[in-house]
Amino acid sequence: MNVDVVDAQASSFTQGDGSSNCASDVAKPADRNANKVNLLGMTRKELETYFETIGEKKFRAAQVMKWIHQLGVTDFNEMTNLAGALREKLSRVAYVAAPEVVHREYSNDGTRKWVFRVGEGAGSLVETVLIPADGRKTLCISSQVGCALDCSFCSTGKQGFQRDLLPAEIIGQLWVANQSYMEDTPVGERTRTVTNVVMMGMGEPLLNFEPVVASMQLMLDDHAYGMSKRRVTLSTSGIVPMIDKLGDVIDVALAISLHAPNDELRNELVPINKKYPLVELMAAARRYVERGAPLSDKSAQHKAIQAKMAQKAAVTLDDDQDDALEPSRKKHVTIEYVMLDGVNDQPLHAKQLIQLLNGLPSKINLIPFNPFPHAPYGRSSRNRIMAFQKALSDAGYVCTVRTTRGDDIDAACGQLVGQVADRTRRAEKWKQKIVEHQNANTSKLDSTAYSTSGQRREILRTRGS
Ligand code: SAH
Ligand code: SF4
Repeated sequence: MNVDVVDAQASSFTQGDGSSNCASDVAKPADRNANKVNLLGMTRKELETYFETIGEKKFRAAQVMKWIHQLGVTDFNEMTNLAGALREKLSRVAYVAAPEVVHREYSNDGTRKWVFRVGEGAGSLVETVLIPADGRKTLCISSQVGCALDCSFCSTGKQGFQRDLLPAEIIGQLWVANQSYMEDTPVGERTRTVTNVVMMGMGEPLLNFEPVVASMQLMLDDHAYGMSKRRVTLSTSGIVPMIDKLGDVIDVALAISLHAPNDELRNELVPINKKYPLVELMAAARRYVERGAPLSDKSAQHKAIQAKMAQKAAVTLDDDQDDALEPSRKKHVTIEYVMLDGVNDQPLHAKQLIQLLNGLPSKINLIPFNPFPHAPYGRSSRNRIMAFQKALSDAGYVCTVRTTRGDDIDAACGQLVGQVADRTRRAEKWKQKIVEHQNANTSKLDSTAYSTSGQRREILRTRGS
């Protein structure tokens, strides 16, 4: 595994196009970019309006979006289809910057993690995880710093809520992940690598509604990431009114963190259940599924694809087109269910879950509990999880078990942030020690032995041990 704690004093941290994105550039846009606007988190509509307000044509928005999101270019001077005067103007009034990466881990099995600093202090860190599986590369994105909802099995909940992420900080996670595959690739040959996004990192996405929706609009926009709506999933603990609101403004896949099949147990595990109990949550899930593209749209799409196939044109079907070819395939909700030893994993719970889901088009994903320090639960045994899965499958449900890949890197949400915060504090202590040492022994000190890179190696070595 390639672990990198990015030290603010380390000279350069190359990401993406390898040009101007060294950590300190991205980290401190405030000085150079004071009074400028960050274009990274703007939707197409917002960017069109922005161009009009600076006296430019609307269509520039689509051009600039392609440079930023598809080619990973942040320097306006590299946007060669813009006139020189416009590039110069943009450099004066705007900038493009993702949040600062303070830590990254690239595992040999392809898993990648990033920790971003989105403010001052160890509490202002969020994480993003990329998991490759079955030919897909799925990115798990955070929506808030911490979370206010305090689910009893979740380490993010234990950190409390710090603040909502801005659109640039949310979409910036996807931008950085794609960038990490573009390194050393000439601009003209760059492609976006992330195939799927799940809003399952830190935070409750429906409690940071507008920035999350704006970011998902960028994910779906053909001029930005152009992802299929079935490949963008929002996961919620069940903020009922916001599920309806979500369905009003965007059509993405929905996952519900259920974790318990009755109100008594769910009140304990997911306290927001006291406000929005199961009967209301299930009704909202049903309403969400019943929305979606009308069948007539699908059959039009179906005909178009068949015509293409008849012409023997090279066609790659994405999930939407699959749906069009198979209109009977219904939209569904993914039900997430964390497996807590002896708490929610008994045969009676499986039976109650089957009754609860009756009539709701759903797929169930069992998540083996990811322990964290002082967690009041244990992970259900393999046998218990298999028995639970069998009960649901026998009742006709598609039920999968989330695999835990390389436990060292596949920490539960929020866990990695805790480790990095510890290490950052350790690094601070180190620096303090060095200063004390220098003050006491100025004449004797061999400065090279205490260089920043030395500290950095020490951090990496400690982690590896
Ligand atoms: N707040 C949203 C999305 C972020 S949590 C939600 O709750 O859905 C993403 C998923 O990780 C949720 O299903 C959550 O229940 C699960 N999760 C949180 N802590 C976990 C842990 N320690 N082990 C396994 N899954 C966990
Ligand atoms: Fe928040 Fe989701 Fe964690 Fe609950 S499970 S505390 S809603 S991040």
